[in-house]
Amino acid sequence: MDHGSRAHAILSASGSHRWLSCPPSAVLETQFPDTTSEAAREGTLAHEICEIKARQKFYTKSDMGYMAKNVATRELNKLRKDPLYQDEMEGYTDDYVSELDVQALGFTEKPYIALETRLDLTDWVPEGFGTADCIMVGGEKLLVADFKYGKGVRVSAEGNPQMQLYALGAWKKFSFLYNIRRIRMVIIQPRLSVNPEIWDLPVEELLSFGQYAKERAALAIEGKGDYNPGEEQCQFCRARQQCRARADQNVMLAFGDIGKLPPLITDEEVGEYLRKGEDVASWLKDLQEYALGACLAGKHIPGYKAVEGRGSREWTDMDAAFEALQKAGIPAEMMYERKPLTLAALEKVVGKKDFAEAAGEFITKKPGKPALVQEKDKRPAITNVPTVEEAFGGVET
Ligand code: SF4
Repeated sequence: MDHGSRAHAILSASGSHRWLSCPPSAVLETQFPDTTSEAAREGTLAHEICEIKARQKFYTKSDMGYMAKNVATRELNKLRKDPLYQDEMEGYTDDYVSELDVQALGFTEKPYIALETRLDLTDWVPEGFGTADCIMVGGEKLLVADFKYGKGVRVSAEGNPQMQLYALGAWKKFSFLYNIRRIRMVIIQPRLSVNPEIWDLPVEELLSFGQYAKERAALAIEGKGDYNPGEEQCQFCRARQQCRARADQNVMLAFGDIGKLPPLITDEEVGEYLRKGEDVASWLKDLQEYALGACLAGKHIPGYKAVEGRGSREWTDMDAAFEALQKAGIPAEMMYERKPLTLAALEKVVGKKDFAEAAGEFITKKPGKPALVQEKDKRPAITNVPTVEEAFGGVET
C-alpha cells in the first residue's frame, strides 16, 4: 500500500470520530482486518439507487452527470437484481430525493447541486479525501447532505466530525466561486426517522474545527497522542477487544479501589455508574466474542473453552412432513393457526397511503413503557410526579 492509500485508510473521514477522540487508535487499528458487514454492503446498494434517482431529479441534459431515462432505468434494474435488494429500498431512496428537494427549495436562489463528489481533505488530514452524497451551494450557503441506510443508531448532525470534514472539503472546492458564510449539514436516515437531522453553523466555526482536526490528524498519523477509551469511540474500533487502555479503564471501573465512602451511593453516583457501566458491559461482550474466536482457533484462554450451544430442531422438508401428518389423520386445524398480521407488517404489505386511508381511523397510539436512556436522547423526559394543576386542580381554597 503506498503512503497515500495508507494514510487515507488510517485517517478515513468515516472513522474520524474515533481518531479525533483517541488519536493512537488509528495506527493501532491497522493490525486488525477491516471487514465489511452485510449491512454496509446493503448501504452501498441503497446509495447507488439514491444517486441514480437524484441524478434523474436534479440534472438536466446540459448538466454533467445527466442520465437519460432509459439508461437510468437500465441501471436501476441491474441494482434491483442484487441479492441484497429489498422492495422497501424504493421508498427510502425516494425519501432521500424528496428531502434533497425540500432542502434545495430552502435556498434563496436555485442552488448548484453536486452529487457523489470527491473532496480533497488534505489541508486538514494527511492524504485525506472523501465522497459527499450531495452538496448544494448558492448565495452564501453551503449544504452537505449524507444518506444513511442504517437502522441501528440514529446519527446526529450536530458536531458530526465526518460531516464537518466533508463540509471543509466542499468549502475548499466552492469557496473560490461563492462567498460562503453559512454551512448546513443534513443527515437523512429514513429507516429511523421521517425528519432529517440538521445542523447549521457559521463558516468560522467550521474552519476552527478544521484547525482542531488538523492537529489531531497530525498526531494520529504518527500513532501519537493519548489513548482515550470511551463508549462512542471504542464501539467500532477494530482494536476494541484487545486494547489495553480500554481494558485498564474498564477493570478500574468495574473492580477499582473505591476507598472509604458512605454506605449508600448517591443519585449522582447511580447516574455515573450507569453511564460508565454501559462501556464495561459492551467491553465484556467484546472480550467474550474475542475469547470464543480464540478458543475456536485452538488458542487457550485460561478458565474458558468453546462448547457446542443448545441446538434446535428444524424441518428438512416441512411440506412433506405436513402431508405425512395429514395422511396419518391429523386434521389441518390442528396444524395451522390463522392469526392477523401485526399493524406494522400489514401496513408494509398494503402500503402506507392505502393503509392510512382504509384503516387510519382505527389506529391509536398507546404510550410506550417508561425506559431509561441517556440524557442526550432527543425524546422529552417524562415523570409520574403530578403537576401543580393536577395536584390542586378542582380543589377549592
Ligand atoms: S479501543 Fe478505544 S481506547 Fe482503544 S484504541 Fe480503540 S478507541 Fe482508543
